[in-house]
Amino acid sequence: MPDSLLQRVGLIGRPIAHSRSPAMHQAAFDALGLPVRYELWETPDVAALARRISALRQLGILGANITIPWKEAALALLDDLDESVRRLAGAVNTVTREETAQGVRLIGHNTDAPAFDRVLDEMDAWASSRRMLILGAGGAAQAALGVAVARGVEPWIAARRVESAQEALARLAGRLAGPLRWPDHAFALDDLPALAAALRESQILVNATPTGTGDPLASPLPLDLLVALPADAVVLDLVYAPPETGLVRAARAAGLRAMGGRTMLLYQGTLAFTLWTDQPAPLEVMRRALALE
Ligand code: NAP
Repeated sequence: MPDSLLQRVGLIGRPIAHSRSPAMHQAAFDALGLPVRYELWETPDVAALARRISALRQLGILGANITIPWKEAALALLDDLDESVRRLAGAVNTVTREETAQGVRLIGHNTDAPAFDRVLDEMDAWASSRRMLILGAGGAAQAALGVAVARGVEPWIAARRVESAQEALARLAGRLAGPLRWPDHAFALDDLPALAAALRESQILVNATPTGTGDPLASPLPLDLLVALPADAVVLDLVYAPPETGLVRAARAAGLRAMGGRTMLLYQGTLAFTLWTDQPAPLEVMRRALALE
């Protein structure tokens, strides 16, 4: 097909060569016969980010995904943000464009938050959960915090530095334009008594650190602490490579329901696909494309 007939969508981030998004989305576009090419748009610095976002206004662009480290920096460069960004995640991972009489408008969305919600829903976690312990205090942790609060679940958060965990709760309060709640629910990952106490109280444990990526022996917390979780607790590791992390394996061995990050990765992709194309995403095609990686 001549390039002039192709629409383009791409991934903005740094580094992105390892990303699974191109294979997943290209398989979906091809399966539906859509003339769209998914590209990698390596974006080294803030000036390049501004140029990239501005280029999304051009004809022939369908939209974009945004990943580390630009999910927050992109907020100020877009024309509008949907509720998933404003209330749930505070960060953008998907951009759509709208043609209006006044020109092109770029809209920011976050599909990680609803994907996270859906995975826990499918694990039957929401009905019976009152507290969630989140490990890590970056972008994915923010989405987890926002969804937890929207679901009426009280969060605990642990990070390498206690200050990062406190800042994460403060950012959540800012986003919800409310008071800082649960100020004593932030602690350091190496504070093992606090970790054990939070585990005893939590029906959901989420790993939102990269620990475990590419290393099935690495874990974000000492695995012998998992016995502190209630027997009906669920464990969700956002790390998606390997598909079964050390944390997931240990949780399952301890008799807990546990899931790695690949299903969430799939769901955030299907949501982005539908935002760009207005069509249902070919779920199984995308699942197979992810599994082949
Ligand atoms: P991020 O914004 O860079 O935040 C990472 C967080 O993990 C920070 O709090 C960081 O702490 C902490 N961290 C980094 N290295 C650590 C270590 N060795 N030990 C303990 N904590 C550590 O990244 P993110 O976007 O939140 O993503 C976090 C993980 O979730 C990544 O592995 C990402 O691939 C995964 N993720 C998966 C999905 C999915 O769909 N499955 C979606 C989003 C993210 P410092 O501030 O101290 O560095």
